Amino acid sequence: MDAQRDAQRTSSTAGTTGTTGTHRVVILGAGYAGMAAAVQLAARTRRLPDVQVTLVNGSDRFTERLRLHMTATGQQVADLSIPEMLDGTGAELVRGWVTAVDADARTVRVDDDRVLPYDTLVYGLGSVADTARVPGADDHAYGLSNAQDAELLADRLGRLRGGTVVVVGTGLTGIESAAEIAEQRPDLDVVLVGRAEPGATMNARARTYLRGALDRLRVTVRAGAEVVKVRPDGVELAGGGSVAADVVLWTGGSRVSPLAAAAGLEVDERGRVVTDAALRSVSHPDVWAVGDAAAVRQGYGVMHGTCQGGMPTGVHAALSIDRVLRGLEPKPFRFGYYHTPVSLGRADAVVQFTHPDDSPRRISLTGRTAMRYKETVTASPWPTYGRMKRMPASGAFWPTGGRFTRRAAR
Ligand SMILES: Cc1cc2nc3c(=O)[nH]c(=O)nc-3n(C[C@H](O)[C@H](O)[C@H](O)COP(=O)(O)OP(=O)(O)OC[C@H]3O[C@@H](n4cnc5c(N)ncnc54)[C@H](O)[C@@H]3O)c2cc1C
Repeated sequence: MDAQRDAQRTSSTAGTTGTTGTHRVVILGAGYAGMAAAVQLAARTRRLPDVQVTLVNGSDRFTERLRLHMTATGQQVADLSIPEMLDGTGAELVRGWVTAVDADARTVRVDDDRVLPYDTLVYGLGSVADTARVPGADDHAYGLSNAQDAELLADRLGRLRGGTVVVVGTGLTGIESAAEIAEQRPDLDVVLVGRAEPGATMNARARTYLRGALDRLRVTVRAGAEVVKVRPDGVELAGGGSVAADVVLWTGGSRVSPLAAAAGLEVDERGRVVTDAALRSVSHPDVWAVGDAAAVRQGYGVMHGTCQGGMPTGVHAALSIDRVLRGLEPKPFRFGYYHTPVSLGRADAVVQFTHPDDSPRRISLTGRTAMRYKETVTASPWPTYGRMKRMPASGAFWPTGGRFTRRAAR
């Protein structure tokens, strides 16, 4: 059976393989989605000398973005080595920054001096906080897009003796960050500023609990406020008001790398790679897109960036590439959301269970039970990669969302 599978694979890859006779799969970005793709594909192809999986990432450490608000408040998080995770899979890590993709020549430029040819590309460069939309945000606000951002903020907060921290953005990252800073640094005044009420997408019980927890942590909430400018000493609001601050943290919205658009891949209005039902670029069939960098349409609309949806896209892309290499058609990707877990410091949380389209169900968890649930979810990706390495099929389960995810024709 294996011999038949390998023979099929060799013949099906022949037409798309470089002059070396090896099919080169290059995966860009070792975030939640790119790691899932790399481990899943490498585990499935490890015994095949004619498939080479290469993962490219700026760092050889895996960043748990879900814990960046902990790093930002000076808490230790695990040191996770990507080469150690890939060890034994046959996949290799190229450490460096991707500066360009040439989709016609099928090459990736790394740090401007290295060129990696590919036969299949997986694009998973994630997203960063969108500090470009509002004047001053890029210059004066801190972000939480990567470990360096979080360490810079930790350093600044560490040097602050009293004062005010304004967190801009009442989305989940803003709520978690405001709560974490308030809990770790009771000497600071924390003000959470944003257009929407915190927890606006939750049911009334979860929303009320969340608001109560922010009050208990003495976080001042300024909902219904739009920040139009960031200054070195605070933020200006639409309509004329302002909030003074010693530190501003920007979590309002995200943006993706311009590399996909520059490469000529079809992207949506936010620069995300537009995919077909199987997660393949609609303009370049040798490119697959995963995680926050992909515009993946489901029946309920285009998925928004989360780890819960990002990891399944990575696994699905790997399964699809494996199928194509074996001469099979890839299957459509279907995903339904199932929860919104939000930490409120280290001892409290809210978990809103959701319908597949991310609208709230009536069930939610609060308090210590929610905190344990949230911690389990946050800690799970790395062990999941470890299990996938040994048993690839163990990573290939996620809620498919039933009728909610049946994709409308494009
Ligand atoms: C504080 C915080 C809390 C969050 N909490 C949750 C949560 O509870 N649940 C949830 O589902 N989601 C949460 N998210 C969102 C979640 O982190 C993202 O949706 C997820 O990280 C997306 O995964 P990804 O693999 O697409 O991208 P990322 O995890 O962003 O990974 C992209 C990788 O690509 C690398 N990279 C980028 N550009 C380049 C380049 N040019 N060259 C080389 N490497 C590059 C990056 O360094 C990174 O390693 C949270 C985000 C933050 C910031």
